Amino acid sequence: MTFALEPEGSAVLAEVAELVETYGREEILALRAEVEALGAERHAESFHRELAKRNLLAIGLPEPWGRSAGPTERYALHETLDAAGMPTYSLELNETMAGMIARQGRPELVAEHLPKLLAGEWTYAGGYSEPEAGSDLLALRTRAVREGDEYVVTGTKLWTSSAHLADWIVTIVRTDPESQRHRGLSILVIDAKAPGVTIDAVPVVGGWRVNAVSFDAVRVPAAHLLGEENRGWAVISQALTDERTMSFGGRESRLLLARLIHRWAATGEAVDDVRAEALGDLVVELEIERLLNLRAAALGERGEDAAAEASISKVFGSELAQRTAEWVDSALRPRTRCTRDVISTARTGDDISCAGSVDPLVADAAQALRTSTAFTIIGGTSEVQRNVVADRGLGLPR
Ligand SMILES: Cc1cc2nc3c(=O)[nH]c(=O)nc-3n(C[C@H](O)[C@H](O)[C@H](O)COP(=O)(O)OP(=O)(O)OC[C@H]3O[C@@H](n4cnc5c(N)ncnc54)[C@H](O)[C@@H]3O)c2cc1C
Repeated sequence: MTFALEPEGSAVLAEVAELVETYGREEILALRAEVEALGAERHAESFHRELAKRNLLAIGLPEPWGRSAGPTERYALHETLDAAGMPTYSLELNETMAGMIARQGRPELVAEHLPKLLAGEWTYAGGYSEPEAGSDLLALRTRAVREGDEYVVTGTKLWTSSAHLADWIVTIVRTDPESQRHRGLSILVIDAKAPGVTIDAVPVVGGWRVNAVSFDAVRVPAAHLLGEENRGWAVISQALTDERTMSFGGRESRLLLARLIHRWAATGEAVDDVRAEALGDLVVELEIERLLNLRAAALGERGEDAAAEASISKVFGSELAQRTAEWVDSALRPRTRCTRDVISTARTGDDISCAGSVDPLVADAAQALRTSTAFTIIGGTSEVQRNVVADRGLGLPR
């Protein structure tokens, strides 16, 4: 199987490489400070707007909105940005939302939202999980009652990433109180600043913030419904599969490992057989992770069901990210000499703290160790992904 991109795909990548090149040491440092200040996972508003300027926020959408790019091309876009250490979570989040709105929105909603989303002026969060409905999302209790041209929404969402930065929260609600499980659910695009919406910070390991979002009789125009009333499960399950097709931690791991290798090459570090073997194993596994993601993307491109393949790549990549972070962290511990290497100087500003006591590569490895814990939970836990593989992939009875 080959994964060569069509010429248009390569053109997108060339554009992205050019964008990345405009970020030198000072710009990277400013981005890092912005990500830290916003406190959300890999989110910097200024970089989001740069992507918007180049019409890169939803390349998968057909023209005039996007560039009709397939999943493989989308994957390549993310890979290029992540390999350069750029903050891309808001891209992942908003391109998923752009797809849902474009495919499932009423024409007036599409006309109002897509231009703002694609210009980077409005950002979106996904309000699915609840305090008692995470893995078992179908147990959700947030309700929406139709009153004339509006829905009245009441309930609480938990773990909502970037809700404190978002203009809109794409929310799954129960519209038919008599229904069970996947029936009777609907998707609403809710104004994050509407009366009755309260957003509280929930700190998670690694210094990020996610949110608890409560809706107290929030009035939402009926035109903000995505898809059909009571048939929201089909809308959301496609979006969740799309989300899992993206790499969870693998790309960050590759960058971390590359930085360590550059560091060792620059310092002439003696790498004994044990470390060389462990390093080689990680490099092989990271390549497998990449191919698993591309396989899921390629299936999606052909319009085939990629649920099991997306779950396989999610389990493998997220667990590998934890192992890679752990290994790099421990490999750095005995020595913390600070040097300038190609990637760090150009892209991550590693050398900046050399004068101080903190070695940024050591700090970033420790941070990766903390944040990678979330990768096996976010987007559905490893246990749940394994259930999907058993059920959808192997056809085993539940
Ligand atoms: C950093 C972070 C960001 C997140 N961002 C968002 C977001 O933006 N939007 C959103 O809606 N959600 C978000 N989530 C929520 C995430 O999807 C849920 O945390 C996840 O689905 C697990 O749900 P839970 O936390 O309720 O755990 P639970 O479902 O209570 O699970 C507890 C444990 O039981 C295990 N378990 C549960 N059911 C089964 C089963 N059937 N078989 C085997 N084991 C099982 C789980 O694997 C887990 O180990 C985020 C989570 C984190 C940590």
